[in-house]
Amino acid sequence: MVIFMVPNPPEEPPVIVVGAGPVGMTATAMLARARVPVVLIESEPVPKTDWRASTFHAATLELLERVGVTGQMVAEGLPVPRYQFRDRRDGLVAEFDLTLLKDETRYPYRLQLNQQHLVRMLHERLRDDDSVRMMFGSRVTGVAGTPRGASVTVESPGGPLTVHGSHVIGADGASSVVRQSLGVAFDGYTHAERFLIASTTADLAGLLPGIADVNYVADPLEWLFLLRTPESWRAVWPVPAGVPAERATAPETLQAQLQGLAPCPGGYPIVDAQLYNVHQRVAASFRTGRVLLIGDAAHINSPLGGVGLNSGIHDAIDLTTRLVRVRAGEAAEDPELDTFAEIRRRVAVEYVQADTRRNTERLNETDEERRAANRAEMRATAADPERARAWLRRASLLESVRRFGIGTPPEEYARRTGGSSDPRREDPVAG
Ligand SMILES: Cc1cc2nc3c(=O)[nH]c(=O)nc-3n(C[C@H](O)[C@H](O)[C@H](O)COP(=O)(O)OP(=O)(O)OC[C@H]3O[C@@H](n4cnc5c(N)ncnc54)[C@H](O)[C@@H]3O)c2cc1C
Repeated sequence: MVIFMVPNPPEEPPVIVVGAGPVGMTATAMLARARVPVVLIESEPVPKTDWRASTFHAATLELLERVGVTGQMVAEGLPVPRYQFRDRRDGLVAEFDLTLLKDETRYPYRLQLNQQHLVRMLHERLRDDDSVRMMFGSRVTGVAGTPRGASVTVESPGGPLTVHGSHVIGADGASSVVRQSLGVAFDGYTHAERFLIASTTADLAGLLPGIADVNYVADPLEWLFLLRTPESWRAVWPVPAGVPAERATAPETLQAQLQGLAPCPGGYPIVDAQLYNVHQRVAASFRTGRVLLIGDAAHINSPLGGVGLNSGIHDAIDLTTRLVRVRAGEAAEDPELDTFAEIRRRVAVEYVQADTRRNTERLNETDEERRAANRAEMRATAADPERARAWLRRASLLESVRRFGIGTPPEEYARRTGGSSDPRREDPVAG
């Protein structure tokens, strides 16, 4: 076994980031900006071209300014100020207007942009950065605490390695080897139905007049989620348990589904189709000594609401803000990392899990009385500017960021929670 260290002064061990997805890349960019040495380890040979997330919310665009990437994202993305809740039977239910948030944020819209572009932009910025050592095509197989930090074992193209660092950040996605190697529980549940995403270059707005660029469509039999990205339109629908993946993704099935939505003479040009298992799970702890979990490694949820990646980016910026302070000798390690673990787990449970679960239940509600009540509530919320603003602040994650801050020092967090860091206490700042 080879022992590997980055060529930095020995007194400066690197932070090891496992996973070069959008969350690991953001963590790496934050550390590199503060000149903290980083080893970034990714199992794929090149940055992934992943189509999953396509929505960036206001709070995330504000935070990504810290790594200097928001301007490019906005230039390449599609700003969407209005989105709709619809019903397959009743049509338009309510439209929400994010410009209601224009006095609170520089980004009063959802930015539609596929997550692979954030990975590309950050990779381009980091690949020549001498603080960062990138190891693509290298799979982490285990993690361990050491007397001076933490280490990972790696299967690299050159053979097995052990990489030592001050801290390990597990940003290695839902099946995180880092989390599993620590034995941290990932409780929750997996939806019986899977979600199919079909992307088409057909102009859905022309075929379905009146729709917005983002639309949640409720239906007791088959809900639908329609959204536009710069490259294509995407339609997302549920695939019942028991339907084989090959049948769900067969070209004739995809055509039939889309033609059922709106006839497209000549057929829909389909550029991508993926079937995903969907879960609601949160890691029991986001910290084990000097090993920290962020992004999908720490929490996963239904994509309805588009907050999974967004909250993962918030984890990355919160954690690395603290690590920079600790490494600079400006803050004590344990309170900082405990506060990260507490705040970010609390946001995952109270906001991300709660809201995505509610969004998913609302779309596939089968009880007619509850469906009618849901529609009435959405209409009333959208019609009242104060209620609509509160709804949008929460949906865009501005509320959780304003409430807890990002990288909030432990003393400040304790002050906000009334002198206790117990997450069960009422938070007076919440209002
Ligand atoms: C259908 C769908 C739509 C979605 N839409 C949205 C949306 O609009 N907005 C939103 O906020 N979220 C959305 N999400 C969620 C979003 O895609 C994820 O939250 C996001 O990809 C998480 O990023 P990550 O970097 O934590 O993990 P990942 O993107 O999974 O990246 C993990 C990286 O780690 C690497 N890796 C894994 N194991 C190892 C290992 N052992 N060693 C080294 N490297 C490893 C992987 O190759 C990968 O590159 C959606 C999810 C789905 C399924």
